[in-house]
Amino acid sequence: MKYIHSLINGELIKTDKSITRENPASLEKIYEVSMCSEKEVDLACNSAQKAFKVWSKLPGSERGEILFNISRRIKDKSETLSKINTNETGKPLKESMLVELKGVVKTFEYYAGLASKINGTSQTINENLLSVTIKEAIGVVGQILPWNFPLLLAAWKIAPALASGCTIVLKPSELTPSGTLELAKICEDAGVPPGVINIVQGSGEVVGSSIVKHEIISKISFTGSTKVGKQIVKNSSENLTKLSLELGGKSPSIVYPDVNEDWTVDGIIGAMRFTRQSQSCTAGSRLFLHKKIFESFVSKLSEKLDKLIIGNPLDDNTDIGTIINNKQFTKVCDYISDGLNNKNTEVICGGMPPKDGPLSEGYFTVPTIFRNKSNEWRLAKEEIFGPVLVAIPWDDEEEVIRMANQSHYGLAAYVWTRDITRGINAAHAIESGWVQVN
Ligand code: NAD
Repeated sequence: MKYIHSLINGELIKTDKSITRENPASLEKIYEVSMCSEKEVDLACNSAQKAFKVWSKLPGSERGEILFNISRRIKDKSETLSKINTNETGKPLKESMLVELKGVVKTFEYYAGLASKINGTSQTINENLLSVTIKEAIGVVGQILPWNFPLLLAAWKIAPALASGCTIVLKPSELTPSGTLELAKICEDAGVPPGVINIVQGSGEVVGSSIVKHEIISKISFTGSTKVGKQIVKNSSENLTKLSLELGGKSPSIVYPDVNEDWTVDGIIGAMRFTRQSQSCTAGSRLFLHKKIFESFVSKLSEKLDKLIIGNPLDDNTDIGTIINNKQFTKVCDYISDGLNNKNTEVICGGMPPKDGPLSEGYFTVPTIFRNKSNEWRLAKEEIFGPVLVAIPWDDEEEVIRMANQSHYGLAAYVWTRDITRGINAAHAIESGWVQVN
């Protein structure tokens, strides 16, 4: 079986421990993954610290050239990388190609241009005093990734770090180790010196927390669940390591009665990320639909969802692939079963995954919508990370904004209206990191 190594100081490393990863669509065992210990994390941190002395001294324009080179090489290998990505995530090939790989190439291009434009500022305080701000690379950064966008999120972390002269110790999710390793190898082939990017495969408990606690690490960039984010805050406190955390969501989507329903139905399918089995932090999973259009809207939505093709992710025609693994699949099924057994709610479409036929063989679930009266329900509060949408009717604007804000999360939100003033006012009133006014 294929072996997925770690990469430390430019060398592919095999470890004593390993785990097996399966393809979530075919359930075929696809590779053994290296599982590092504290020892490898220490080696990786030291190698990144040594490489920092060279990489951070390189002129930004030279780092930029290497980044352009990386983006070109990734573009050339897009098809291969997309297949690797689809095999380990279960997302449709067209999603891997058109969303993820395209985004990866653009990210490296963008930071390639930025590498030579990292400027400080100066301020004349008085005739004898000039204050100068110089931007310096922070040092070795620890980067910890989830599994839902292994390549795009790796690019969002690696490219800016490389552009600014930082060196990297990166831990991919243990569920998606392969694509990220390939990306790192491409970076080295494109001219990134050994030791600048170190990939340490392994579990969150061992490898993740060792990176967070390591004294060489100057900054942690983490994307993942809120629960793990909180552990990282605690574990980083000893060294007061700087943190960037991008965590979970339970995002509201508010639909006003003036919308063009057909157009907005497509928008809601996109915002809920149904084609990625809704395994997205920004999935608009609480749908507040105005009472006037509720019935016609949900009927059009169910009809459209029914037409999407669920199946083999490698097939060009497939719209929806699989859930990432058995644990996540079981969790999603548990929420669906809870919804089906709740007397106060009604299932509009979908339900439990098929028990027979080809879809019963992999971790396939079907888009499911429940109608509920309010937010006060487990399915409307917790991040499911699966295709379960809760639709809630509303007719009072103040009340719907209150419900939208009634959440522990605040990552993303969507407003759908043809009245731009109303849309912008709603965006101001919703407490969220970003709000899309559509
Ligand atoms: P997760 O938090 O379980 O794991 C994320 C990473 O953290 C993995 O590599 C894991 O091994 C590691 N980890 C686990 N325990 C750790 C610890 N104690 N110390 C350090 N690292 C540890 O998340 P997941 O299940 O891989 O991904 C899904 C989550 O990611 C969802 O909550 C989703 O909303 C979130 N996410 C957020 C964004 C965003 O931009 N806000 C983007 C994508 C995913």
